[in-house]
Amino acid sequence: MAEYDVSPSSQLNPSQENVLAQLGAKPSERPQFSTGLKNTLKRRLEEVAQNLLENIPNNESLFLSKHLLTQLMGCEKRYIAESQESFEWSIPTARGTLSHKAIELSIFWQGPKDPLTLTDAALNRAEQGTDYMADWIRGLSEGDRAQLCGEVNSRVGSFLETWPPLEKRWKPMLETPIRVELAEGKVVLSGKVDLTLGSAGGNTAGKVIVDFKTGKFSPAHRDDLRFYALLDTIRIGVPPRLVASYYLDQGEFSPEIISEDVLESTVGRISDGITRLTELRFEQRAPSTQPGPPCRWCPVSEDCIDGQDYLSDYNE
Ligand code: SF4
Repeated sequence: MAEYDVSPSSQLNPSQENVLAQLGAKPSERPQFSTGLKNTLKRRLEEVAQNLLENIPNNESLFLSKHLLTQLMGCEKRYIAESQESFEWSIPTARGTLSHKAIELSIFWQGPKDPLTLTDAALNRAEQGTDYMADWIRGLSEGDRAQLCGEVNSRVGSFLETWPPLEKRWKPMLETPIRVELAEGKVVLSGKVDLTLGSAGGNTAGKVIVDFKTGKFSPAHRDDLRFYALLDTIRIGVPPRLVASYYLDQGEFSPEIISEDVLESTVGRISDGITRLTELRFEQRAPSTQPGPPCRWCPVSEDCIDGQDYLSDYNE
């Protein structure tokens, strides 16, 4: 990105150099996009949303996130089962949220940036809130709190060790909400981007979108970033130059250059998702099944014939 100085610095370790090398681009390497791209993409989504309007009750709206879209593209029966379960905070679900918060604090932190200080600050802020997460943290036993703190601390430490310090001129922005409304707000696509760096200049792409991940690579992570890339294109008018999942445990990137073809296929996926969601929620269509590895931890596997068939083959 133009704002990136990609020249190696003797102060950076090889992992930090790798981050710069992966994310940086010379001005000549940045693609240009047509001015009409935003309207073309939005018009296609708008047509799908308008066609579904008569099936969405007056007092209802459809909200689609990257997570919901991935659920809908997988086994619909499992999605229905999971959507009926109430969400519970746990150490695995909270550690990602708190790691992101601590990383966010690290960028603007004035004092020494040691992971434990940042982890403590993130936890203390979260527990002072008025939401369900704050209640959950306040109710943790000493042991669970220590475990949560340790798991967040190791992810924040990994970030600080493998990323170069983010400079103001790279325009870092964290937890940025993005939203696109279709059909006069009856269909809403939304999300929150972990980190963006850089920005477009005119019709030249310059932004990089990064999603921090704990755990291992999944193809769904690439779809998540494509979802964000499309929303940002419709919001700004120019696509991000690059999107990348960054795996904190491994210090590894999975980057993808954003092209018009990628955006077109994402429009198709979202259109499919909106249609499926409308059919399942308002038209009482029976959900389809998609047996596969997720059957192993599916909450309704015991009552699912297709899932049981898959699992008995899998266990043979
Ligand atoms: S067991 Fe498998 S096929 Fe059945 S609902 Fe669950 S994920 Fe779908």
